[in-house]
Amino acid sequence: MTLISKPAYCISDDELRARALAVPFEAVTTAWLRRAGLKLYVRRDDLVDSHLSGNKFYKLFYNLQFAQSIGAPRVLSFGGAWSNHLHALAAAAKKIGLGSIAIIRGERPAILSPTLLDAEHWGMQLVFVSRQVYRELTQSNAQQESLVAQKSQLLTEFSDAYWIPEGGANQAGAAGAKILGWALDQQLQGDYAAVCMACGTGTSLAGVAAGTRRDVIGFSVLKGDGNLGMGIQALFGQLDPCRAGRDNWRLISGFHDGGYAKPHSDALYRFWQDFEKETGLLLDPVYTLKLFWGISRLAQQGYWPKGSRLVAIHTGGLQGRRGFRAP
Ligand SMILES: *Cc1c(COP(=O)(O)O)cnc(C)c1O
Repeated sequence: MTLISKPAYCISDDELRARALAVPFEAVTTAWLRRAGLKLYVRRDDLVDSHLSGNKFYKLFYNLQFAQSIGAPRVLSFGGAWSNHLHALAAAAKKIGLGSIAIIRGERPAILSPTLLDAEHWGMQLVFVSRQVYRELTQSNAQQESLVAQKSQLLTEFSDAYWIPEGGANQAGAAGAKILGWALDQQLQGDYAAVCMACGTGTSLAGVAAGTRRDVIGFSVLKGDGNLGMGIQALFGQLDPCRAGRDNWRLISGFHDGGYAKPHSDALYRFWQDFEKETGLLLDPVYTLKLFWGISRLAQQGYWPKGSRLVAIHTGGLQGRRGFRAP
């Protein structure tokens, strides 16, 4: 018989809602916003929690609740050396008294990134695997004969852990993000042309869109979106079956600046400097920087009528600044 230990800390659904409702909005102005005649309000989800930044706070909530409910002693997930997801998972697992494991792509480097150092410090076990094994574990269609033994060894070793997909991209993740969308609707009155957010796996976009009645635009940070839209569609449909076919979300590509977590172009770097100087708001290099860059490009093209009010969700991730030349 296994003894299920009581979690040291667990936040309730009510508390999640209360935390989401307490997130402030900040009106920001920049020269390009003034020229386009737009008003921009930033939802400061980077402030939602001191360790679990931004959208990860929501995406991990039901995943961790589920892990606790089945009595899993630890959680496992996947990511790279600068992963906001792994960073948040390590912090959250420590807080609620669960063990945590990270499967990381590539060899263990001589010097760990600050992200992984934090994670290890919080008790996360770091397991480095080759790119091939990583692909085998994270992609459902991968099935390489030569890797089967290695794969099954890991599956056995960590069979007591609750496995969360890379980026927290599952229905539980989207269900958490839905609370963010719900809170936004409670907080905002009047017309807004769009709610804008950065989009990696699109899990948060699907959840936020399902939670709000407003129009949501996801700015993809990926170079090739592949079937991102189909994944979002599927999650959105699961969260709100009655609304399927009347989608309030769209995906915009083309503002990835060369691809996911690639070094920035000079133009984007200058934008980053100017934006932070003008607004006093810090951005992360991978997601929110590209979100505001995309908003500025669309604003300059006259995408929204003058006088429009926009909302942008600051999904956090500021810990990732340590890996880049930040302003
Ligand atoms: C993880 C992350 C995202 C992407 O969220 P998805 O649900 O995968 O689309 C956006 N912004 C920040 C700051 C993130 O860390």
